[in-house]
Amino acid sequence: MAKKTKEKIVKKEKRSRKIITDNSYQFLKNYINNPSPTGFEYPGQKLWLDYIRPFVDTTFTDPYGSAVGVINPEAPFKVVIEAHADEISWFVNYITPEGLIYVKRNGGVDHIIAPGMRVQIHGKKGIVKAVFGWPAIHTRIGGEKEPTPKVENLCLDCGGRSKKEVEELGVTIGSVATYQEGFDELAYGYLIGRAFDNRIGGFMIAEVARLLRENGKKLPFGLYIVNAVQEEIGLRGAEMMARRIKPNVAIITDVTHDTTTPMINKAIEGDCACGKGPSLAFGPAVHNKLLGLVQDVAAKSEIPVQLRTVSRSTGTDTDSFAYANDGCPSVLISIPLRYMHTTVEMLHRDDIENTIRLMYDTILTLTPKTNLSYFD
Ligand SMILES: [Zn+2]
Repeated sequence: MAKKTKEKIVKKEKRSRKIITDNSYQFLKNYINNPSPTGFEYPGQKLWLDYIRPFVDTTFTDPYGSAVGVINPEAPFKVVIEAHADEISWFVNYITPEGLIYVKRNGGVDHIIAPGMRVQIHGKKGIVKAVFGWPAIHTRIGGEKEPTPKVENLCLDCGGRSKKEVEELGVTIGSVATYQEGFDELAYGYLIGRAFDNRIGGFMIAEVARLLRENGKKLPFGLYIVNAVQEEIGLRGAEMMARRIKPNVAIITDVTHDTTTPMINKAIEGDCACGKGPSLAFGPAVHNKLLGLVQDVAAKSEIPVQLRTVSRSTGTDTDSFAYANDGCPSVLISIPLRYMHTTVEMLHRDDIENTIRLMYDTILTLTPKTNLSYFD
């Protein structure tokens, strides 16, 4: 009994010990505030590689900019933990003779929230500030049928009053634009930021590597910490990486919807809330035995988890890994997030720590001998 009580206290102390350090929190802020538009992720990837380098044996990148840190690169059995590095953005598509800039989507960027937003256009000569203008409430025509923001009626105003003036700033067709809003803290452990989807994942997998190194853990397999590009336009970076690494097991992390805010139907989207732990998905691409193992780890480590289902595909890089090569047992561990694809994506600090902890404990439980066969 006494022993048990003591064990319980030790466990409790272990749980309450914070994972995120001052240093890692500073990295998180820099990483989130640094733009990383789909197809142009490399400045963010460089930041991420600089952070992760001390915690891994080696790193590599691929032609499109996915970045990987590796522990035990010689080991034949390979485990991947993965997140995606890219953020949704806009492409400059057409510059009018008056200097206004029409855009095209680069990933599922939300047109509804665009009016009044400040953006950074990543031009040839550096950052050019601009805004998404919108007709004033006084001048809009249509009464009840007010115009709604659509890609074809939104335009950026950077101050240039002719095409020539815009181009002289270094803005050309094909320049990308990202929203300006950045990282901030709210009360009760909530954080907001642009594109926590999914750079929080990049942060969390890096923290797993840090903890493994700092705690002196030896792994019986090669661990590939993968920060893949181009998820937002079709899971493409992961596809390339899955073929390159040919892993035996893949653990994917991404964001999922907190469904407790207005205008979301729980009957369709399921029940998930920030602060209640990582969400585990059931779906054909998710390997049931691997998912069972993760659930056991969560129970043993007393990490709260939430459950959800996906129809057909997961819509995350899990699909790319699961269906690559000859089939790779894959699992999806998601962090709940409010207001996805807006500039005020919101998540809870406890969920960040619990997601890191769940990935970390899962990695320490897995071995090359773990039986993931459905048939024996
Ligand atoms: Zn997304």
